[in-house]
Amino acid sequence: AAKAEGRNRFHYFTPEMEAAAQRRRRMLNELREAIKLQQFEVYYQPIIDLSTGKIVKAEALLRWNHPKGQVPPLDFIPLAEETGLIVDIGNWVFAEVVRQVSVWKGYFDTDLQVGINTSPAQYLDENFCEPDWFGNIMGNGLASGLNPANLCIEITESLLMEAGSSITDKLLQFRDHGIEVALDDFGTGYSSLSYLKQFDIDYLKIDQSFVSNLSPASQDLVLCEAIIVMAHKLGIRVIAEGVETEEQRQLLTAIECDYCQGYLFGRPMPAKEFSDQWLIPSHLIDQD
Ligand code: C2E
Ligand code: MG
Ligand code: MG
Ligand code: MG
Repeated sequence: AAKAEGRNRFHYFTPEMEAAAQRRRRMLNELREAIKLQQFEVYYQPIIDLSTGKIVKAEALLRWNHPKGQVPPLDFIPLAEETGLIVDIGNWVFAEVVRQVSVWKGYFDTDLQVGINTSPAQYLDENFCEPDWFGNIMGNGLASGLNPANLCIEITESLLMEAGSSITDKLLQFRDHGIEVALDDFGTGYSSLSYLKQFDIDYLKIDQSFVSNLSPASQDLVLCEAIIVMAHKLGIRVIAEGVETEEQRQLLTAIECDYCQGYLFGRPMPAKEFSDQWLIPSHLIDQD
């Protein structure tokens, strides 16, 4: 048995695996410090209303400005989720977006709605969505003129799959506060149409994997159109993600998609750049 164990141990800890485990431990330690060291930043990406061509929404996308270079979310969010750090990080994102949107409201002519991504692990935190949580995160913003309709939360299908009553209650809390809910990455998970019936969802975001190969005779076009027709019949509006070409925009317009997000319109960018490029200062707007 000892021999087998020895072999197993040898088998499980190759130098590569040891190095990977070490990288992970180092990243975890650095991630723990990142809020305190003010290394997080929220980028904003415009979302366009296809019927008017105007910006009506944006998505808040987290960036980690590590001293050695920016770390993309997909490289640290899974680790933050596994370790529960996403609770603090997610709360920081909420507070930061509320602060930023409140500031924008003071300076720009905007009723922009900003989408905030949420991970299932955040819903496991007992404080999340409790009255104190809303007070702490949103109190100042609401006092300085923030309208809850300026916020939207993005959830994933995996959240709805796991959904017990406490998760459903939390989603309802957002709705009760006047915050809309979008189902992100639609079509990639175990899409079950019953979620759409069971939960009150305001928006579906069609995943970019359906958008990237859109062409006039493609199956993806048929799928997108079917999703849009179904969503509209259920009173749900549709946002297409990852729109990169003019042809994609035209096809999505033809099948009556409501909103588009993607590099064709603008990349995610720091708040200052975003407002310079996309928001109109209030004093330039006719008051009458
Ligand atoms: P997501 O919520 O689906 O966000 C959309 C992703 O698509 C973003 O990647 C965005 O930069 C990218 N994107 C937008 N337009 C285009 C395009 O035209 N082409 C291509 N190829 N990509 C496009 P990003 O910023 O790297 O974020 C990746 C994921 O990380 C997000 O996917 C979201 O799941 C997660 N994430 C980001 N910020 C947060 C956060 O604050 N909290 C949580 N829990 N997750 C976050
Ligand atoms: Mg999202
Ligand atoms: Mg998405
Ligand atoms: Mg996605």
